[in-house]
Amino acid sequence: MTSKPVIAVVGGGIGGLAAAAFLHRAGLPCTVYEQAKELKEVGAGLVLAPNLARLLRQLGVLEAMTATAVRLDVGWEFRRWQDGTVLSAEDLRESCADLYGEHTYTAHRADLLAALASAVPPSALRLGKRCVSVTDGTLRFEDGERVTADVVIGADGVHSVVRAAFVEAAAPVYSGLCAFRALVPASSAPEPARRPAQTLWIGPGHHLVHYPISAGKLVNVVAFAPAGGYETESWTATASLEEFLAEFEGWDPRLRELIRAGGRPGRWALLDQAPLRRWSHGPVTLLGDAAHPMFPFFGQGAAQSVEDAAVLARCLASGAEPAEALRRYEAVRMPRTTRLQEASHGRAHVNHLPDGPEQRARDAAFAGRDPLRDNGWIYGYDAGSDPG
Ligand SMILES: Cc1cc2nc3c(=O)[nH]c(=O)nc-3n(C[C@H](O)[C@H](O)[C@H](O)COP(=O)(O)OP(=O)(O)OC[C@H]3O[C@@H](n4cnc5c(N)ncnc54)[C@H](O)[C@@H]3O)c2cc1C
Repeated sequence: MTSKPVIAVVGGGIGGLAAAAFLHRAGLPCTVYEQAKELKEVGAGLVLAPNLARLLRQLGVLEAMTATAVRLDVGWEFRRWQDGTVLSAEDLRESCADLYGEHTYTAHRADLLAALASAVPPSALRLGKRCVSVTDGTLRFEDGERVTADVVIGADGVHSVVRAAFVEAAAPVYSGLCAFRALVPASSAPEPARRPAQTLWIGPGHHLVHYPISAGKLVNVVAFAPAGGYETESWTATASLEEFLAEFEGWDPRLRELIRAGGRPGRWALLDQAPLRRWSHGPVTLLGDAAHPMFPFFGQGAAQSVEDAAVLARCLASGAEPAEALRRYEAVRMPRTTRLQEASHGRAHVNHLPDGPEQRARDAAFAGRDPLRDNGWIYGYDAGSDPG
């Protein structure tokens, strides 16, 4: 293709803005259509692993992020549910940057979204534009507007309208797990939760993760439990504090203190989707959770969305015809995101073992493990230089 393609991105979340930022950096203009009237993120945190930090550096936004992101000293600190016994912990202070050239950080999702937005020209963003259907390269919006593009990128999350245009792409299903989340003022949090550490308390059928964000002013808490009949997948749904505490009855008192300090929690059901066989049909492709929603047990969903964005922008900038560029993008990205979807899935079983011989064997194995090196295939990867 000799002239620049017209590129439409549906969704202005982490993946959609990252796509716009990488496309812009590659000299390819695009328009992002976001349904919300303003760019916003839910009040929650996320881990910026080295593979994500590396891409934020390439976009020139990592430095701004580190004003509020917390650099972790300790990662993968697994504790026993009843009494907080440390089963294993990883010292990240020097080793993470030595191994992978970047540190691991934790951050507020809104800060990551703002950092990505700063790398996108404001004229590329159209807010309050809810896409209702996609046919070939034509998007139809709720307000009646129609837009035709040479390339359509569906970055519209787990309930993707763009994905629904693919006849064979089944919607994700309920996983039987739900998550509670809360942000706790650090001043009210018990000591273990105030350290620059990512801690995972694991126990029968449940686990709870916490780490500080927002320059250490807040502690992000997310906890996983059986969903029962709960099937609401929404970042804005809430539960009662009593429901949250009941799930963690009998757990270490410091953990219950942390839960109490968070007040009314958010709650949502985790969705599950087997890896798709294709992401692209003609001029339309998918990116981020629309393409490969994954359990959050490796803390890699946002990172994979940004990796998708980096590879897709390079494929489109290669000068290949759009269909060929999308085919190449899919071929580069699918094996990695499929592996992460499967690995994240397997973690639910391991983290939630009931006390007994299998749990004791797991705990003994944890003591000898080195997740920082074991996960080298995740953290060492540079999507910005993958030859795709
Ligand atoms: C509990 C939990 C913890 C997590 N922790 C981590 C972590 O530590 N590290 C990590 O890397 N990842 C983490 N993730 C995963 C990460 O949050 C997601 O993978 C990431 O947000 C996906 O980004 P996305 O842009 O694909 O989708 P989304 O963030 O869902 O964004 C989709 C956007 O599209 C818009 N949209 C939707 N439909 C339409 C439409 N029809 N028209 C126009 N716009 C539309 C939405 O408004 C939204 O802005 C976690 C996820 C969960 C659930």
